[in-house]
Amino acid sequence: MFSDLGPDDLFECQMCGECCRGYGGAYVGPGDVRAIAEFIGEDPETFRDRYCQLSGSRPLLAQGGDGRCVFWDHLCTIHPVKPRMCRQWPFIRAILVDVRNWRTMADSCPGIRADAPEEAVLRVVREKLAESGAPA
Ligand code: SF4
Ligand code: SF4
Repeated sequence: MFSDLGPDDLFECQMCGECCRGYGGAYVGPGDVRAIAEFIGEDPETFRDRYCQLSGSRPLLAQGGDGRCVFWDHLCTIHPVKPRMCRQWPFIRAILVDVRNWRTMADSCPGIRADAPEEAVLRVVREKLAESGAPA
């Protein structure tokens, strides 16, 4: 049952930018730093200094004056190289920890189909994590 539902049946981004608002969302690992720095034509040190904030010792993308990620400008301006967390949304590991997180996330993300069957959500999240090589 529900085996025919795929990612596009569960989520369709509305480009509202709500998930790009607020502090703490997008961690950047060393590979992200290299990729984003190259994409925007900066060296990695300059990218970290200008576009990241530290959370402990881990860099995450800084916020601009509007409270959104510095790379949001009506759409994600670094879409091809956006960090893993942004690429995986909303098929993230937290759903496997507690599937109710799907509906909680839907409260702030209008692209998420809140009433999607939990079996389908869990299956698609597992498939997407496996595809991306992330630990499930
Ligand atoms: S909050 Fe959801 S619908 Fe809006 S931009 Fe982010 S992923 Fe897309
Ligand atoms: S990198 Fe792109 S998708 Fe991720 S928070 Fe910034 S603007 Fe949003």
